[in-house]
Amino acid sequence: MKKLELETIIGLEIHLEIKTKSKLFCSCSNNTKLTEPNVQICPICLGQPGVLPVFNKEALKNILILGLALKGKINLISWFDRKNYFYPDLPKGYQISQYSLPFIKGGCVEIDSVDGVRKISLERIHLEEDTAKLIHSSDDQWSSLDFNRAGVPLMEIVTEPCLKSPIEAKIFLQELRTIARYLNISEADMEKGQFRCDANISLRPKGEKKYFPKTEIKNLNSFKAVGDALEYEIIRQTKLWQEKKQPKISSTRGWDEKKKNTYPQRSKEDVQDYRYFPEPDLPSIDFNELKKEDIDLELLEKNIIELPGTRKKRLIQMYNFSSVDANILIENKGLVDFIEEALVKLREWIVSTDIIDGTEEEIWETSKHQISKVTANWLINRLLPLLKKDGKNEKDISLEKFVEFIVLIYEKKISSTLAQTILERIFVKDENLSQIMDHPSVKQIDSEDNLIDIVREVIKNNQDTVDKYKQGKHQVVQYLIGQVMKKTNGQANPKLVQELFEKELS
Ligand code: ZN
Ligand code: MN
Repeated sequence: MKKLELETIIGLEIHLEIKTKSKLFCSCSNNTKLTEPNVQICPICLGQPGVLPVFNKEALKNILILGLALKGKINLISWFDRKNYFYPDLPKGYQISQYSLPFIKGGCVEIDSVDGVRKISLERIHLEEDTAKLIHSSDDQWSSLDFNRAGVPLMEIVTEPCLKSPIEAKIFLQELRTIARYLNISEADMEKGQFRCDANISLRPKGEKKYFPKTEIKNLNSFKAVGDALEYEIIRQTKLWQEKKQPKISSTRGWDEKKKNTYPQRSKEDVQDYRYFPEPDLPSIDFNELKKEDIDLELLEKNIIELPGTRKKRLIQMYNFSSVDANILIENKGLVDFIEEALVKLREWIVSTDIIDGTEEEIWETSKHQISKVTANWLINRLLPLLKKDGKNEKDISLEKFVEFIVLIYEKKISSTLAQTILERIFVKDENLSQIMDHPSVKQIDSEDNLIDIVREVIKNNQDTVDKYKQGKHQVVQYLIGQVMKKTNGQANPKLVQELFEKELS
């Protein structure tokens, strides 16, 4: 008998809270830092009868930015639909959403997946209002409602069923989160519920073209939960297939974080259960008729910034960053903006010095890899951890100071031990760099007369090493330089010391 080989098909639905000043259909503030419940509310977002929604164009602008960045197609005529259902967090009995004509159709996200670059196609991105938040007591004795979240603008992003594994689903979600933050359309914090995910999964025998009934796992609230829940479902559904009991209808399951398993929930409403119909209280949106000052599609498209995936490739190509460093940098737009600005300044500096001959481009070409390496290393591995201890981050670094500091290291004017001390003094204690450098305890010793005796002494006391050097192991000179640095508290000019050794030992 032929062994049953199965493949996994995953599609995701993501709800992303949009950053705006006010809610989607009323003027209540959309402040995410709020802790007190039910203070940003009004008759509209409470769903009281007789009120009329007014559409917030800022939310529309943000969904268009994402759609354009992901190369989706904009439906130039669109409208809202009512999705009818009742739940305590939706007391008006319907959610204003989009059904037949979402603002964005298609589009894709490119990811660096386990088997190379993959384009994950999107089915649609639509706009809808968030519901209130239900909070259940731990003993199940009561539930309470917070309407601060009701009416917050929400994007629903639906992928095609084209993801092949839990790890791929996680990579996609991480990429999407980074993109949303880059475009500044959402804080996309999963812990705060600003980025929520439902995952659809089904299996099928390898070679099959059709899709089989899917299982939807609801409300996954961390990347880990997405991965774990999908892994669990693959095992559960594989077993069902092997026993010839594969799912015959679509179903909905929840994820139990403690038990690490999924469990059945209500069977999912069919589309017809929602009785969608166009929202009668809001006019349809025709982009051809929208005023330019409201939404200027051409301008929005022109202003789309470089996406993180493209930027990462460029950074690696331009500066030779390791992929580890590039990933750390790209995760945080503030940080990567900072290092790129610093490198622009460092380029200006290096081409203005006349150490090397050549055109600006040639000078930069010969130095940029080394400069980038030093800059990334000192920023990521030394400065940021130091600032973190103080509750600070890259926003607190003065670009000029940082560039000055990197120049000192690049020119080998200070040893790395000394550099670490100086780093702390200028960035944590906010001392003045030139004052520190003038102090006798720091000032670099760069006169031959002051160093030659120490060099000779080190040679005398390290005959073994000197012999190795003479036998051709020239790298041991680093050890000898280290000895001089120790004796001078790191103040000797390492470049000069090396030259002295080379002269003395030749
Ligand atoms: Zn309101
Ligand atoms: Mn939705």
